[in-house]
Amino acid sequence: MSKPQEGEAQASEAGGTGSGVEVTRESVLEAAKELLAKGLVEGTSGNVSGRLGDGTVCLTPSSVPYETMTVHDLTVCDLDGTQLEGERGPTSEKALHLACYRAHPEVGGVIHSHAVHATMFATVRQPIPAVIEEVVVYVGGDVPVADYRTTGTDELGEEVARHLADRSAVLVANHGMVTIGATPAKALHAAGVVERTAQIVWGARMLGAVHPVPEEVNANFAGVYRMMREMGM
Ligand SMILES: [Zn+2]
Repeated sequence: MSKPQEGEAQASEAGGTGSGVEVTRESVLEAAKELLAKGLVEGTSGNVSGRLGDGTVCLTPSSVPYETMTVHDLTVCDLDGTQLEGERGPTSEKALHLACYRAHPEVGGVIHSHAVHATMFATVRQPIPAVIEEVVVYVGGDVPVADYRTTGTDELGEEVARHLADRSAVLVANHGMVTIGATPAKALHAAGVVERTAQIVWGARMLGAVHPVPEEVNANFAGVYRMMREMGM
């Protein structure tokens, strides 16, 4: 009885984040495949990463279709961007991912995607309002828009990361969105919530005026979001 308990304690301490769930290369690949299956990316667009137990970051490679991607295609870099593992080069948005990990130590997964409805808001540079409670609980509130910076630059990474202090999602002007979480799977879930909220707001605006979640409820659920994030959930 006592040995498995010891093992569990050791496993949770070994995690790179406070979540107790150690992020693996397999979990990065799994989130990448799910990202495609959920229609949040197509072809080779978008990218996924996870912070491994030793503090390095596993990133999807550049220009490899998700359908055929295997764990051997994945790359590993340190937080400064030096490639440590992998025969292929990391995603061209490497700087964006690493900036999120450097700025937010509790983050264990980052996903960049070009989901259609979220990108519609990104092109008109409008935040996605928090019109459903779910988006407050899992994202922290409305989804802000990061100012335009050129793709692949450190400047884009810094601009994106600064919006993620109290949110798990940000729109990237004229480009797409970035989501974070304790694990790649949590970042994927946030991406799905944002895309569905964007679709709901887009449709709802055709029906009439959109009302945000009442301010008191918004504040309460934002508190739940902050607590879950601090606990690495
Ligand atoms: Zn992109």
